[in-house]
Amino acid sequence: MRLLFLLIFTSCAQLEDRPSSEKIIRKFYETSVWKEGAPKRAQWDKHVRHTFYNSFSYREKKALELVHEKAWSSLPKRDQLFDAIVKNKNQRQEFCKEIPKGGMLHVHPTGLVTREFLTKKIKSFKKKINPLDLLKSGTEGPRKELKKEEIRFLKQLKSKKFNSYTLVEQNKIIDLMFLKIEKAPFDFIRFQAVFSLLRYFIPKNKKIEFEILKDFLLNARNLGISYVELTNVFDFPINMKTLRNTTRRLYKETGVHVRWNVAFIRDNNKEKNRKLRDHLLSFKNRKDLYPIVGIDLVANEKTNDSLEHWEIYRPIIESGLLSSTIHAGEMGNPHNVRDALLMGVNRVGHGVLVQDDHLSMESMVISKKAVEVNLKSNLILGVVSEMKEHPFLKFHRIGIPITFSTDDEGIFETDMAKECMLALEKSNITYNELKKAYFNSLHFSFAQKDLKKQLLHSLKKDYRQFEKKWQLKSN
Ligand SMILES: [Zn+2]
Repeated sequence: MRLLFLLIFTSCAQLEDRPSSEKIIRKFYETSVWKEGAPKRAQWDKHVRHTFYNSFSYREKKALELVHEKAWSSLPKRDQLFDAIVKNKNQRQEFCKEIPKGGMLHVHPTGLVTREFLTKKIKSFKKKINPLDLLKSGTEGPRKELKKEEIRFLKQLKSKKFNSYTLVEQNKIIDLMFLKIEKAPFDFIRFQAVFSLLRYFIPKNKKIEFEILKDFLLNARNLGISYVELTNVFDFPINMKTLRNTTRRLYKETGVHVRWNVAFIRDNNKEKNRKLRDHLLSFKNRKDLYPIVGIDLVANEKTNDSLEHWEIYRPIIESGLLSSTIHAGEMGNPHNVRDALLMGVNRVGHGVLVQDDHLSMESMVISKKAVEVNLKSNLILGVVSEMKEHPFLKFHRIGIPITFSTDDEGIFETDMAKECMLALEKSNITYNELKKAYFNSLHFSFAQKDLKKQLLHSLKKDYRQFEKKWQLKSN
């Protein structure tokens, strides 16, 4: 009895010692202020440790950890009816197709090519395939690599027209561009090889790019998506007139509102990224940049951290011209999430690795920084070794807003219905939590206020119908 009392007393004392929200935010702000321009990594880490982490006592940090652990180990009960839907495969599938999903905030147009689309293109490929050229496109350059058995396969392959290969060979060629879950995990440099292999068969062409986008959006629309943010690598100066026309046409032909985030490639040389930054800063206001709504930092985190892009991010964030998100916490050093947050980003792409940094997570809870969750992508690229290790539900339960998306849905052979299936099958997410995530995807989008309001209103309406049909209740 005395021991029980002691335990209760200790845990209460620890919870009371949790740092206050105000303190965390104040310290966060103090840390992120850096007056002497872009800091060097060593200086920065020292500064963060001193100003941020060391400002909290051991008891405060421990108490916060306990609060988070308690929140994410809570098991809200699934409503009986929803549980029955989840347990029945056909119903689960139907449910995941039909549930209104709001928006997708993490999509790369270059990763949207589907197996069906590529097979059609490759079958009409007029030239003979030169396997050595294909090998070269998949391996040349420092940022990409193929697996040993794939290199062996291409080396022994004869040069022929695609249709003259055996069916097994044809499939093996196509498989080079789709990362199958059975063969996962794939290293990031293997993933990057996909894009140049695709380029071998699908040349850069506006018409084809539009066709691929349209196919994707029509499927998304059928799955209850009304809004998509595309992270795109633009040639600059960006042709705003063409971009506006494309955006308008896409909406007209698919019913989905598209907005764009400008991708900064981590591995690009700094000068190139600075020029793109200055180009964006040359616009006077948000309206002139429409339909561009934000910036995003992409590519391999293992070789390129987040803070090192301070010179791009801080001026753009301070200008108020665009919103911002960063691929951080997908791989590489977990401090990338912390640094992205300190630079002032609005959202985090992936964020998986922040799960051990309780102070950064708490700052995300307080300042409502949403995470863009891409389940299958994380599994295929080995960000988590199995789905049940994925922290998306932990994030949600401690109060970090989560949103679902698909990253590169063609290459990963997924879509929003399949992501929903994964979430239902591999976690104990409740109906309310799932619904909340889909509302988040509009709420935390970078869309203009009016559009956001209109889309949220329609989503509510769609839910009334959906819940009536499925006899589901939510709070
Ligand atoms: Zn991505």
